[in-house]
Amino acid sequence: MIQTDVLIIGAGAVGCALARELTKYEVDVLVVDKNEDVGGVASKSNSAIIHTGYDASPGTLESQLVVAANPMYDKLAQDLDVPFQRVGAILPAFSDDQFEQLPFLKLKSLQNNVYDVEYLTPEKLLDLEPNLSPEVKGGLYIPRESIIDPFLLVVAYAENAVENGARFLLGTKVLDMVQEEGTVSRVITTGEEIQAKFVVNAAALYCDEIAKMVGKTDYKINPRKGEFYVLDRNTTVDINHIILPIPTKQTKGKLLAPTIHGNIICGPTADDGEDKLDADTTATGLQSIEEDVKRLVPNIRISDTIKQYSGLRPNCEPAGYHIETYDDLTNYVNVAGVRSTGLTSSASLAKYITEKLKSIGMNSNFNLKFNPIRKGIPVFRDASKSEQEELIKQNPLYGHIICRCETVSEGEIVDAIHRSIPARSVDAIKRRLRPGTGRCQGGFCGPRVIEILAREQNISPEEVMLNQPGSYMVSSKTRE
Ligand SMILES: Cc1cc2nc3c(=O)[nH]c(=O)nc-3n(C[C@H](O)[C@H](O)[C@H](O)COP(=O)(O)OP(=O)(O)OC[C@H]3O[C@@H](n4cnc5c(N)ncnc54)[C@H](O)[C@@H]3O)c2cc1C
Repeated sequence: MIQTDVLIIGAGAVGCALARELTKYEVDVLVVDKNEDVGGVASKSNSAIIHTGYDASPGTLESQLVVAANPMYDKLAQDLDVPFQRVGAILPAFSDDQFEQLPFLKLKSLQNNVYDVEYLTPEKLLDLEPNLSPEVKGGLYIPRESIIDPFLLVVAYAENAVENGARFLLGTKVLDMVQEEGTVSRVITTGEEIQAKFVVNAAALYCDEIAKMVGKTDYKINPRKGEFYVLDRNTTVDINHIILPIPTKQTKGKLLAPTIHGNIICGPTADDGEDKLDADTTATGLQSIEEDVKRLVPNIRISDTIKQYSGLRPNCEPAGYHIETYDDLTNYVNVAGVRSTGLTSSASLAKYITEKLKSIGMNSNFNLKFNPIRKGIPVFRDASKSEQEELIKQNPLYGHIICRCETVSEGEIVDAIHRSIPARSVDAIKRRLRPGTGRCQGGFCGPRVIEILAREQNISPEEVMLNQPGSYMVSSKTRE
């Protein structure tokens, strides 16, 4: 039986941010996740935008937490060594109807305490984004909408949590929870049983199923699928800002955004479904993206797509963030409904949940040894010539390029495999360092990454996973 003060179920953005936040206190923290790596489910397939909350529903907990989180990212990204850029967003109007909505959207931003949204003339909009449709009649500028590396944010939260004493139990699914005298007394997993003074359910898409284990059936999570295109870095039509469509009553619409690594993403769709495992892209979804984003930037080259992906938003019924404690279950915190803003709000949500835990008796003594700084793996691609030479001098493996599309060296891959949260699969390497995310999508570097993973973990190539046990990539040698 494993003992801990706080057990967090789910190693996505929310669970990992919370784990890091809790290490600021004298508490023992354990995170379990059924996946083999941190990074969650929704947290690795989103728009990668750090929202301002300008368009949230005023007065809601979601508005409060998103608006509070945005300003935290300058320091957080610096402390955790995560790529983050305040590129800003524009919201252009192309018809009279859309133009008439601008004052209401601006008023909404004020109601959400986002005071830096400004009107822009068509000339100014075209100056900022020359490829915007010339039909533009005016729009809004939201300067603090930002982009981040969502994979590295979660990895960095987790690594910093581990450096400050938290433990992670990956590849471990929570199967049931036992209640005694109004508390969760034991958590049954596919591994060892866990006894925790406090349990936090941060399982997102699956948090209704975890909640049911302790008799809480007052909400339901419905997956809302969002599909995307990723365009090649060398596409001929560039954009500099996040370009947002005017929302309708049904949907926020499909946007264009630069990614932190220089690609462009187009999407997402918003389709409700039942199947929490259905992450397929669809012809109709992708076609609707093309039609909609071409209204914003008519000559965007969708034919320069190098990848399509989709993610499932953990949408809650009843809607909204539900961060709850219960009188009849005194050591349990429920985190539900973070749907389409949880990457952003993870920073403030971690503090909000920590206060909830303190309110139900968690030790609130500060950990005076807490170190907020996490140093990432040096990025060979972004280093200057002299820095590259120094890296190679210290470790010759940095001079051996494995992924030519993204210029990823063997040194970086080996480092990632031996970090405090080790990258143990091809996808784990890809999310941290980007081999396989370029134009060839791993066709060239894939076999080399498998060889390095096998060598460094002392396993055979046949045992190297794409992401989960069973997702093996090679079966046997065809030639000696
Ligand atoms: C299409 C799309 C676009 C989005 N765009 C943005 C955006 O631009 N900006 C933004 O801020 N947010 C965005 N979001 C929302 C954001 O991605 C999510 O709100 C956030 O990632 C949720 O984080 P999480 O940690 O709660 O969930 P997840 O990342 O899903 O993590 C939950 C974890 O719980 C684990 N788990 C589940 N069941 C069990 C079990 N029984 N035992 C053990 N572990 C379990 C899962 O394996 C998973 O790792 C978007 C989401 C989608 C889908």
